[in-house]
Order: sequence, then C-alpha cells, then structure tokens
Amino acid sequence: MKKLRWGSFILGSLVVSFLFACSGKKELKLYKMTGATQGTYYAITYCADNNENLQPAVDSLLRHFDQSVSTYIPTSLISRMNNNDTTATADQIYETVFKKSMEVSAATDGAFDITVGPLVNAWGFGFSKKANVDQAMVDSLLPLVGYRKVQLLKGKLIKADPRIRVDFDALAQGYTSDWLAEFFESKGIHDYLIDVGGEVLGRGLKPDGQQWSVAIEMPAKNSEDERKVQTILSLKDKAISTSGSYRKYYELNGSRYSHFIDPFTGYPVKHSLLSVSVLASDCITADAYATAFMVMGLEKSKVFLVNHPEMQAYFISDDQKGGFAIYYTPGFEQLLKKN
Ligand code: ADP
Ligand code: MG
Repeated sequence: MKKLRWGSFILGSLVVSFLFACSGKKELKLYKMTGATQGTYYAITYCADNNENLQPAVDSLLRHFDQSVSTYIPTSLISRMNNNDTTATADQIYETVFKKSMEVSAATDGAFDITVGPLVNAWGFGFSKKANVDQAMVDSLLPLVGYRKVQLLKGKLIKADPRIRVDFDALAQGYTSDWLAEFFESKGIHDYLIDVGGEVLGRGLKPDGQQWSVAIEMPAKNSEDERKVQTILSLKDKAISTSGSYRKYYELNGSRYSHFIDPFTGYPVKHSLLSVSVLASDCITADAYATAFMVMGLEKSKVFLVNHPEMQAYFISDDQKGGFAIYYTPGFEQLLKKN
C-alpha cells in the first residue's frame, strides 16, 4: 500500500483543544500521537490511566503490517505470493484481508475485486508508468481478472494463472485502524480515535464525555487543492472510510480517469460520483465498501444499501451545474452535526 487519502479526517483543532484531563473519567488522561505510515499519516487520540509511551509499539506494529500486505515492499507476503514464491504463507493480517475481500466481492457481484491489480498498473495507478492502454491491452489483461480465480488454501495463494496478482489497496488501510484498535484494547484502553490516512475508527467517548467528531471532506476541483470540510459527524463505536475520485486521477484528451477499475470492462469507472463515505462497525468493511460503491456508482449502491441497513453512506456527486448533489442513507441523518 502506498497512498494518500484524505476523504475523512479527524478535526485536528477539536482534538488539540481538549485539556489534558479526561473530565468524564477522572483518573484518565488524554494522549495523542501522530506519525507516518503507508505513504500517509496516522493520528491517534486516546484516554489512558498511565503515561506509558505506546508510540514505539505502534510504529513497530505498523512496520509489521506493511511486511504483510504492502505491495510496495518487495519482501512483503503479498509481493512474494504475487510473485509465486511458494515458501510464503499467509499470516493473520493477510488471511483477514483476503477473506473480507472475497466476502465483499460476492456481496457486490464482483464489482469489488482484488485481482484488478494488472489493470490498475496498466492504467498507471500502480508502480509502473501508464502504458499506452488500448482495447487489445485491456483484452489481454482481463483474463487475469476475477475474484473467483484466486483462493487461499492453508495459507497458500492458489491462482488460476500464475500472472494473477492481488491488490489489497482498497481495504488494507482500513484494516490497519481495526488492527491497531486491538492493540489499544489489549492495553485496557477503550476510548480512542484512530485515523490512518483518513480511515477512522472511533470507540468509547471523548474526554469531555461527548462523542468523537470526524469531518468528511468536500470534494476538490483539482488534486492539489486544499482540504475543506463538507460536513461533520459523530462517531461512536463506528468506523468511517471515504473513497473519492477527485485526488487520484489523470487527464487525457480532456477526460479524467479515476483509479477505480470496473473489473468487467477493464476500464476506469466514469460517472458523476465524486466521493462516498461509508460508516460501518469496523474500518475494513467501511473501506472495502467505499471503494465498491465508487465502482458501482450511486444508483446501484443505493439499491445495495436498502438491503444492508447495517451500513450507512454519504454520497457526493457532481450536479453538472458546478455544484454538488448530496445523497445519504436515512441512518446518516442523526449522526450529522448541525452547524
Ligand atoms: P483511495 O483512498 O486511494 O481512493 P480506496 O480505498 O478507494 O483508496 O482504494 C483504491 C484502490 O483500490 C485503487 O488504487 C486500486 O488499487 C484498488 N481498486 C481499484 N478498482 C478496484 C476494484 N474494482 N475492486 C477492488 N479494488 C480496486
Ligand atoms: Mg477502500
């Protein structure tokens, strides 16, 4: 994984302005740590009853995580298994991410598909420079795409074709937040807000007894534009992930190409959906579905969500008149902070 992601983020000023005393729970104090990982940032705020420095452990966990599922590390498990190294065996992180991927692929009729890697690369969003993509090239890569062509058996990746590669970028960063949360829970810490590059998981309460607040970013016109807040919501024992087509894209002959690939056509998806923020009980689910909904588009996602009331989503589309069209699921309403 290596990506910059800003779609949803902790409101820095709100967090920083707390006093270093957790008023709701007198013996607890507020701690905050920030650092770099996976080509982006992490920011963690939590309440604890002692001042043990947890950052070295967090940094070491993050390095361990990279060694499992980061495609940018040639010696990571994912890279070795992609390169058909039969001595590589999946660990718990790889297994969890793989299993969730298959579950989301099945639920979305294949719109979500971790085997799109060769196409992501061809279209210039992976490591290699953008190739001159034409229909013949797409046709040659499509046989390598399809989530039913890969299986994890006793920790080994079984592929229908050795050239198939899996790409966990759509959901592994979300899992990082869940995985770090387990570490904090193991330390007896139950009130925290964990943000890994915009993949946010909030459990328990803020020091003042209020719920954690998270901002959803307003889509930018261009990739380098500064971040602006679209809306703010409360996060209680939930995770939020945003996927957007407005930071990562390229333009060719006046057309914008997003980094979301339609596994059926082999082409980057093209529709007016600019971003989607998904709220779920854990971050890996929120992250996977945020990507899946960007691939599916607004109308298909709406239908899907009617049948999945356990998830909520907030969609921002281009209204084709220079503004935004907003749609959110009914359950989202009560979480939005009126401001
Ligand atoms: P970002 O914050 O970069 O937008 P996402 O979680 O939305 O991150 O994931 C985008 C990544 O997902 C792409 O860079 C690509 O590697 C991968 N991807 C693209 N299309 C699909 C797809 N149809 N199914 C699964 N993963 C995809
Ligand atoms: Mg995602």
